[in-house]
Amino acid sequence: MKRAMIVSGPTREAIDPVRYIGNRSSGTTGYHLAETARSCGFEPFCFISGPVNRLPRSAAALVEVETAEEMREAVMRRLEEAEVVVMAAAVSDYRPDRVSAVKIKKGEEELLLRLVRNPDILAEIGRRRSPGQLVAGFAAETENGPQNAREKLLRKNVDLIVLNLVTPDNPAFGDCPNRVCLVTREACEELPPLGKEELARRIWGKIAALAEERGG
Ligand code: C5P
Repeated sequence: MKRAMIVSGPTREAIDPVRYIGNRSSGTTGYHLAETARSCGFEPFCFISGPVNRLPRSAAALVEVETAEEMREAVMRRLEEAEVVVMAAAVSDYRPDRVSAVKIKKGEEELLLRLVRNPDILAEIGRRRSPGQLVAGFAAETENGPQNAREKLLRKNVDLIVLNLVTPDNPAFGDCPNRVCLVTREACEELPPLGKEELARRIWGKIAALAEERGG
């Protein structure tokens, strides 16, 4: 079985000791990726997760992180051990440039936060990956999905992008059926709306097929 690292959930970027910038990721897809991995032929040797309500029991090592920088550290520490990396986390692209040591008091009518870029973990995986590794990333797009996903795949040097089609009737987040396209170098395959467990199985199926094409 190929050893797979799964990275899941949102990141939280602190503003002060009680507040943060976050996003709507629930970690549901990552959870099902971990729980279905073995039956699909992959060994989930490491599961790295931002703050979520439900963690899988199947992963050999569970690493809980909060910020994008902590997530990056955790991923890079074990990257070489992975034959497959599935980067399903919704990493915050920005974080506050400083974290207030004390709770920010209500004051003026306006409060300005300056945000700075977070590391792009998937792009770094794409730069550092070894030839045999397979790398899958995710994308959530509200428009021009397939084109953006293909550009992302090439720019970040990954093998597969699971494109969430975010529309008013497909919120994509949480425990609901989801519509995605599986975008590879060669093709963009649109799947019907699927529950997230079945979706996880399809993603593993695609990764297995890509591994097969590249000679196992
Ligand atoms: O370019 P975009 O952020 O939309 O790409 C999404 C993919 O990149 C996801 O797989 C996500 O986990 C990853 N990502 C990352 N680090 C970031 C932002 C996104 O690894 N700072």
